[in-house]
Amino acid sequence: MNNRVLVIGVDALDKDVVGSLGLRLGRISGLRSSGVDLPLRSVFPPDSCPAWASVFLGVSPAQHGIINFLNFADATGGYKPGMHVQDSMFQGRTFWDIAAAAGKRCHVLLPLNIAPGWPTNGRMVSRGGDPSRITSHLEEGDRFSTPLDSKALLGIGSGFIARKDLPRAIRGFEDQLEAETTLGCETFARSDWDLGFIYMSGLDGLQHMFWADHDPGHPDHKPDGPYKNVVEEGYEAVDHAVGRLIDAAGEGVTVILLADHGHGPRPWRLFQVNELLRQNGLLTVKKGARKPAIGAATLKKMIFTTVRRFGTTPALMKLSKRFPVWKKLLAPSSSIDWDQTIAYVSDLSTVKSYSYGGVRMHRPGKSEEQIEANIAEVIKVLKGALGEDGQPLFRSVLRREDYYAGPQLDKFPEILVQLPDWCGLGWETGKGLWGEGAIHLVQPGSHRFETPVCYVSNPKVIEERDGPVELMDIAPSVLSLLDVDFDPAMFDGKAFVKSYATSSTD
Ligand SMILES: [Zn+2]
Repeated sequence: MNNRVLVIGVDALDKDVVGSLGLRLGRISGLRSSGVDLPLRSVFPPDSCPAWASVFLGVSPAQHGIINFLNFADATGGYKPGMHVQDSMFQGRTFWDIAAAAGKRCHVLLPLNIAPGWPTNGRMVSRGGDPSRITSHLEEGDRFSTPLDSKALLGIGSGFIARKDLPRAIRGFEDQLEAETTLGCETFARSDWDLGFIYMSGLDGLQHMFWADHDPGHPDHKPDGPYKNVVEEGYEAVDHAVGRLIDAAGEGVTVILLADHGHGPRPWRLFQVNELLRQNGLLTVKKGARKPAIGAATLKKMIFTTVRRFGTTPALMKLSKRFPVWKKLLAPSSSIDWDQTIAYVSDLSTVKSYSYGGVRMHRPGKSEEQIEANIAEVIKVLKGALGEDGQPLFRSVLRREDYYAGPQLDKFPEILVQLPDWCGLGWETGKGLWGEGAIHLVQPGSHRFETPVCYVSNPKVIEERDGPVELMDIAPSVLSLLDVDFDPAMFDGKAFVKSYATSSTD
């Protein structure tokens, strides 16, 4: 018996939003109710680059190292290490490479992180690189029946969109989804494959831009605003696209519908973690440190009010990368007395606010025993932090070892934390424990850790297990479904399926 597997990856397809829309999403809800709804969690931090890398390779970010925590103590200007993603980090090691080596025919469409890609024994189409472009690797004699719409496939790109340009962003989302679905349908309608993969990216950006219009709990929500249905209509469009892809693949295909992370609000308040550390004697501010004429919060608000009006053009974004003056202005390193500091906050950006991040130990001159004792002390302080309702504020305070093991674990801060969705990690000192966010003004949506969708069409293949499914489990699961032999030690993840040969005998 020849089992076939189709993996449909949709960036930021959130299980709570899917649940709230119910039967308006006929195909996705149908897949959920006739298949299995697995409790998937994202990687930490729940960002697309580390998440899809973990999907493709079956290993955690502590193995592949594609993560991006800031380190403010790095005075050489390297506080933002950046993510270097190259095909050499993936080639030969992805789940489709392993399947292809075992003789399975694979069509791989638009996998994130990968450009220009490499040939497989089927179609490989990649999107990205610098400059971003579409690259096709086709077998001899293979041609697209509908020419690729590269412009639509590339989407509207990153950067912040001015409010006046939002209608253009909605059209860009629709055009991109249509081009992705057309490519997927013509590819998966063929019968010459065992494994199909497609990644659709636009829903994430749509939610980043329109979350406040969608979410009645968001402070900027306007119940009768012009964009209040954009997110819901985006989900309906994705539902339609998913239905077309499943129909194109036809009967007898196991479908895995998968997101890299969920989506929710960008925090609009900040909890000043460095101030908490300062109040507990774990961080010291330089005596006589020159107070900036203008507070970081005010500066951020000014920047984002401007961006909201004018957007960020690609040229402006490029310039700000080469001359990150305003990022430097926002970084707190200059005001900290590092010799007298034990721990300090670390997150993913000086500009955006996140409800997840970490606290890093300042290690120079300290023994491992000292650092261990310090970690225990900081965890106690964080766990003792209370919200305004008198309840513990942090949703989780864990050591990095509680998440992952691997050679790149020290890219993570020692302590990893999560706050409620509405609350971000702030790093300002001297102005109390609470502050206001600013980024939600231009980007009201943000990623969530616990709510990515993972629906599998065939309940018979699922192996019962306790606890959540991880993104690292996808690669070994796909290979098990295809009855490809592999060494389980290659992966951090563990298959959540029985092999198809086993499951089809009962
Ligand atoms: Zn995103």
